[in-house]
Amino acid sequence: MVRQDRFFTTEATHLAHAMPEAPVLYFRPEALAARAETFLRGFPGQVTYAVKANPARHVLEALRASGISAFDVASPEEIDWVRRVLPGAVLHYNNPVRARGEIALAREAGVTSWSVDRMSELDKLGDVAGHEISVRLKLPVLGAAYDFGAKFGAEPAAATALLAAAAARGARPAICFHPGTQCTEPAAWVAYIHAAARVADDAGVTLERLNVGGGFPAARGGASPNFRAIFQAIERAAQDAFETPPALLCEPGRALVADAFSLALQVKALSGEAIFLNDGVYGHLAEWRDMAAGAGVVTLGPDGPRNAQPEPRIVFGPTCDSIDRLPEVLALPADIAEGDYLIFPGLGAYGSAIATGFNGYGRAETVTLSGTGHRVTEI
Ligand SMILES: *Cc1c(COP(=O)(O)O)cnc(C)c1O
Repeated sequence: MVRQDRFFTTEATHLAHAMPEAPVLYFRPEALAARAETFLRGFPGQVTYAVKANPARHVLEALRASGISAFDVASPEEIDWVRRVLPGAVLHYNNPVRARGEIALAREAGVTSWSVDRMSELDKLGDVAGHEISVRLKLPVLGAAYDFGAKFGAEPAAATALLAAAAARGARPAICFHPGTQCTEPAAWVAYIHAAARVADDAGVTLERLNVGGGFPAARGGASPNFRAIFQAIERAAQDAFETPPALLCEPGRALVADAFSLALQVKALSGEAIFLNDGVYGHLAEWRDMAAGAGVVTLGPDGPRNAQPEPRIVFGPTCDSIDRLPEVLALPADIAEGDYLIFPGLGAYGSAIATGFNGYGRAETVTLSGTGHRVTEI
């Protein structure tokens, strides 16, 4: 349900007006459109969106409006979510392990592009003639926040056998990889692209397409990432590594959506070094169990941003579970008080997508902020 009743330009003006006790996500559609534009103009190939980063309808609609029409999906549910917003969307089913029922549902939905990382899963797909089979390659991690190769991916020798088998079954051969999320090192993509070329060569297969994955970093309140350096490194590596470079494709999740959202949480209580917030690692801060916290957290008191000397605080979430705390202390202004708001930038990816409803917490209202017209959106 969308309600158009009040206009807001910033988190601070909305918070001063509404004084919410529940978490609020602030959505900037213009920031999302600008980031989509950065990829669509700068990436030397097709840009698709990895739905799992944030499958909210308003995100899918905004990306569609920006010109993104192909999506990386990992489950029949994600297929439904995309189809509801964009019935004609192109779907790449790039979760390499699938139940037979999931394959049947995806085939019914028109999926013709699949990643695989083991022979048993290629066999499970059945007849793949004319379908794109993208072999998921795995190398040791380099420059990412954490290792995406720990679960999925075939090492070069196994990838070579898979690629040859896929081609022999009449599939359109491709390779995909994921350098690891929040990856700031262009060298990670370069290493993968050269390894992909060797695998294709060893398999005696000409790749139709090379999917260079997600993994592109978000600013998350820090310095804006150098996307151009990554895009150029990818393009150059593809030209160097292949005699005839395959068509390129990317499937960013985080980089497209993270910086279009911020999250405002309220301080419920303070006690010694500890502060208690109205959301935590069971909610929108779920990723902070595994990744360093983003920079740029702002503390808002009743009179504006607090700027007393920062002091380390132990940050607890609202649930009754004692592991509901951030793994690292957060440096926050010494004069922080009950009722203050903490604004966390860059929370558009893997925040609401992961948040649980544990203990009755974890829901957030979404408020849309815009430079041209500002509306409160209830979702
Ligand atoms: C999660 C995922 C992505 C998106 O990763 P980001 O780090 O969010 O860009 C892309 N491709 C696959 C196969 C994934 O599993």
